[in-house]
Amino acid sequence: VPQLGVLGLQGAVAEHVRALQACGAAVRTVRRPAELEGLDGLVVPGGESTAMARLAAPVGLLPAVRAAAGQGMAVFGTCAGLILLAEEVVDAQALQGYDRIGGLDITVRRNGYGSQLDSFTTELSLSGLSASDPSATGLEEPLPAVFIRAPVIERTGDDVDVLAEHRGAPVVVRQRKLLAASFHPELTRDRRLHRFFVEMTRQSRPSASATPADSVKL
Ligand code: GLN
Repeated sequence: VPQLGVLGLQGAVAEHVRALQACGAAVRTVRRPAELEGLDGLVVPGGESTAMARLAAPVGLLPAVRAAAGQGMAVFGTCAGLILLAEEVVDAQALQGYDRIGGLDITVRRNGYGSQLDSFTTELSLSGLSASDPSATGLEEPLPAVFIRAPVIERTGDDVDVLAEHRGAPVVVRQRKLLAASFHPELTRDRRLHRFFVEMTRQSRPSASATPADSVKL
């Protein structure tokens, strides 16, 4: 059984826990670095990236997540979690001086889809997921996607695969064992993206001797 964690500082934590459990994973919430021990994968939920970065700082939780990712733990960042995973955030004064996780070679703009009133639901084609993992099944139907003050992905690096797009901009991306979505897959009943992530965590771990890079500070 895959051992999964959900970063439990703030945001849509319980919804992700339930979604991962429904995919057959053993799930715990993570608030301290020691709780990352032995995890195959970690979800960094949506909520408020600034609040999460501040709450994580006293115990050094986000650099610890980056180190664990460097040892082969898979990470799935959704919305605010995608912001914390991004190597580069533009217009990020509120995150200034706080460690993030980093490692995902994208540039994002916080709240790039507009204010709370501009939150919206749409349907996404998942054909990019089957291209990324040909063994993944049941991806023919579109995925309902809830965007809430969502970040816009403005750039993706060469190693980043775009798995889904909305109006020509990437909204699900993958770089090896890092997965990120700019919306909230835990707020709908569709579990296919969580299932895809749980399958990613089963894939072989890179050598444990890989040295993690330093965490990113803005
Ligand atoms: N706008 C939020 C942030 O910057 C993200 C919104 C969300 O996670 N729904 O962290």
